[in-house]
Amino acid sequence: MKLLEDRIRKDGTVKEGNILKVDSFLNHQMDIELFNAMGEEFKRLFADRPINKILTIEASGIGIAAITAQHFNVPVVFAKKAQSVNLDGTMYVTKVESFTHKRTYDVIVSTKFLSSDDHVLIIDDFLANGCAVDGLIDLIRSAGATVEGVGIVIEKGFQTGGQLIRDKGIRVESLAIIESMDAKTGEIVFREQ
Ligand code: 5GP
Repeated sequence: MKLLEDRIRKDGTVKEGNILKVDSFLNHQMDIELFNAMGEEFKRLFADRPINKILTIEASGIGIAAITAQHFNVPVVFAKKAQSVNLDGTMYVTKVESFTHKRTYDVIVSTKFLSSDDHVLIIDDFLANGCAVDGLIDLIRSAGATVEGVGIVIEKGFQTGGQLIRDKGIRVESLAIIESMDAKTGEIVFREQ
């Protein structure tokens, strides 16, 4: 998506450790006009799928998931990160290793908000090693619900997550895919889509 790629080039900064900082429009301050255009694009890409729910993970996926949901007219559920949980049968639980915080979280969704009738679109801000998305797929499958696809704002194509999820036969649509980025020069190369 050209609008997004241009914005990443203009305002994104490449940090050591393969981190792209996009705090000024995605992860801290949020550009809602851009979010709205991205939500519209996700709707166009997944128009053929019978989506009745969007699932994301707190915190940084919530904004884009909420704006995207307006284009699908469906509710958003966000999986919550917890230090540790007792399995009491009222929630689905999985483990996610955080790429940015280098630690493992239990991630939960109440059984009230995911069921076998649901056709779910996963939305997240970044796809890196795929742990977050893989955890969300696990929660959806625990509920017996259907994964209709995964919509990502920025995929770091040089990390393994995209391949991991696509190899499961799941459709992944990323609005921008970064082929390479260099913390020293600040250069960012996008994959042609
Ligand atoms: P994964 O689980 O795919 O390794 O990482 C996905 C999560 O890590 C995303 O939800 C995002 O919050 C965070 N993340 C991964 N890479 C980056 C990055 O380069 N920049 C930022 N800001 N967040 C990232």
